[in-house]
Amino acid sequence: MPTKTTLFDPKTSPLWHPCTQMKDHEWLPLVKIKSGRGIYLEDYAGNRYIDAVSSWWVNILGHANPRINARMKEQLDTLEHVILAGFSHEPAEALARKLVDITPKGLSRVFYADNGSSGIEVALKMSYHYWLNNGLPNKSKFITLSNSYHGETLGALAVGDVSLYKETYKPLMMEVITAPSPDCFYRESGESWHDYSLRQFEKMESLLAQHHTEVSAVIVEPLIQCAGHMRMYHPIYLTKLREACDRYQVHLIADEIAVGFGRTGTLFACEQATITPDFMCLSKGLTGGYLPMCAVLTTDDMYNAFYDSYDSLRAFLHSHSYTGNPLAAAAALATIDILEKDNIIEQNQSLIECMKTETAHLSDHPHVYEVRQTGMVLAIEMIQEKASRTPYDWKERRGLRVYQHALTRGALLRPLGNVVYMMPPYVITQDEIKHLATVATEGIDIATA
Ligand SMILES: *Cc1c(COP(=O)(O)O)cnc(C)c1O
Repeated sequence: MPTKTTLFDPKTSPLWHPCTQMKDHEWLPLVKIKSGRGIYLEDYAGNRYIDAVSSWWVNILGHANPRINARMKEQLDTLEHVILAGFSHEPAEALARKLVDITPKGLSRVFYADNGSSGIEVALKMSYHYWLNNGLPNKSKFITLSNSYHGETLGALAVGDVSLYKETYKPLMMEVITAPSPDCFYRESGESWHDYSLRQFEKMESLLAQHHTEVSAVIVEPLIQCAGHMRMYHPIYLTKLREACDRYQVHLIADEIAVGFGRTGTLFACEQATITPDFMCLSKGLTGGYLPMCAVLTTDDMYNAFYDSYDSLRAFLHSHSYTGNPLAAAAALATIDILEKDNIIEQNQSLIECMKTETAHLSDHPHVYEVRQTGMVLAIEMIQEKASRTPYDWKERRGLRVYQHALTRGALLRPLGNVVYMMPPYVITQDEIKHLATVATEGIDIATA
């Protein structure tokens, strides 16, 4: 139990926190963290918290991982950063080779951006520019899924659909075509994930049939819409989508920023549908959660559409100051090295089972609509009334009560609305999963009482 909460006064600090109504902190303590090690974060009063949300889904191998630290320290003393236009360096090159090696076959080119949202902008611009370079300037629209999330910059926000983040800025954004999500939360009782996802695909198919001449790409989060309340769907949707995109000459952008690097149980979510997208965006876990970086993987076909003499003006003139940062690349190389050497994806199977077993009882809870899981992501959706699928009013902030309870029990569980979830670093133990499940159950009992 915490001995003393470290309070922080929003009235005296100049720091403006992300995704936060700062006024909340007049009564809600801000937890100031002093250090992190493995699965634990420690505050100034000596309280420890299990980081069950991987610090916003980025950390996959624990805080202060000794092997990532060592690799980064070595890099720090060698080269901290250099311009990546006209110049190159070994970490950026080695990482590009490694990523091509471990991602689905056909992804053979790597363009770096310096965070997830920027990587999405790269994919959108490159897709449109490809069609332009191929004499098809009308292919300028994007198809997105309802309830999707692709980041906060204007282009990324435009192809997303989480109204809480998007609605306010609508007048600033390009228009997109929205297909209904395959999110299996809405399947009929008795209907399988497979059948529901397949049924939802029909609507995507008809939008493609109707609009393909003006559509540049379809963008999706493979298997889990993370920011959209950890909603999940079946890989059949991706298989069908790949096939349809080929048929209609539309690119497929797989935003694996959150789900890449083992979250869904396989190294990449696209593997479960045995597809190769035209773009795969990787960030978050890419650097083990150490530094912001995004890698946008694409095909030779894409690369060749830009490859020409200088005066043809076909080049992709996009850059970010920290493109291919050597420290971030070193962290990423160390991360992938550990994933491979320690067989992390296989090792995770027992953790996946443990998460399932330890939370199974919650399916019978009167205020839990369902417990759903895809690999290392497990979500518990609280509901006011199960039979009619009536959600709690968002103003009641039930999830926040779970969050507050969890803090008193040594866990950082940060629900998305009424959805309590675990998405821990892979260095978690079965005992720690058990503890999280207990804390989640207590929190849900309190929040729904
Ligand atoms: C987090 C996230 C992004 C945006 O990445 P940032 O680094 O936060 O800009 C994009 N897509 C998905 C699926 C994400 O989860």
